[in-house]
Amino acid sequence: MPPFAANYPEFDVTVADVENRSVILVVEDEESYQDALNIGLTVEGFVVVGATNIAQARQLMVSAKPDLVLLDIMLPDGSGIDYCRELYDSTRTPVIMVTARSSEVDVVLGLEIGAADYVTKPFRLRELIARIRAVLRRPLANTDEEVVTFGDLRIDFVRRTVIRRGEEIELSRKEFDLLALFASRLGQVVTREVCLDTLWWGLELSDTRTLDTHVKRLRQKIENDPANPRHLITIRGVGFRLDP
Ligand code: CA
Repeated sequence: MPPFAANYPEFDVTVADVENRSVILVVEDEESYQDALNIGLTVEGFVVVGATNIAQARQLMVSAKPDLVLLDIMLPDGSGIDYCRELYDSTRTPVIMVTARSSEVDVVLGLEIGAADYVTKPFRLRELIARIRAVLRRPLANTDEEVVTFGDLRIDFVRRTVIRRGEEIELSRKEFDLLALFASRLGQVVTREVCLDTLWWGLELSDTRTLDTHVKRLRQKIENDPANPRHLITIRGVGFRLDP
């Protein structure tokens, strides 16, 4: 087996064309993890491209167009946390952070860096693969529409902006992500479970105040009469539905 990273800077489109398999960019500088991930993910049917630093990862984001990035935090040329933020601002590719210490988990959870999920070393491959599949199934990563327009709202998924009556309204990252989740399933019920699973991974289902707070704030920003919402409807005991 060739060394993990040395072969990949030359990576071109041919590998990505293989039978629509999902391409995973693994950004990892520890050889033992590189090998395990390369073999384990390939066996599971993914196309794996590897970078050992952030500079290589930036190149591969362009040349390999990965469907998902698995991102280590301590990298030789910078912090995975900063790079995750950079990816979040510039692409729609989901990122799973790989943390080595519990202090890093706190950072990943505490800051809104835009990671789709995280795993802690040492992790079990089976668990990681389950999380990768779950993230790849999420609508935010796969929405083909770039813009959704209804009522007096225009939601731009690429620019991450919401225009209301010609004026941009200010939303936090989480507020935007939540609205985008609803908008990606316009007219369909999105369960509380899916909301929490998509945006607040790790949060217990019973602790849903955060979700309710975000829904309330969204209503204040997008509804004419937030107390009697016309678009963002509560389906009692189930979840929410965004009506056009
Ligand atoms: Ca590392």
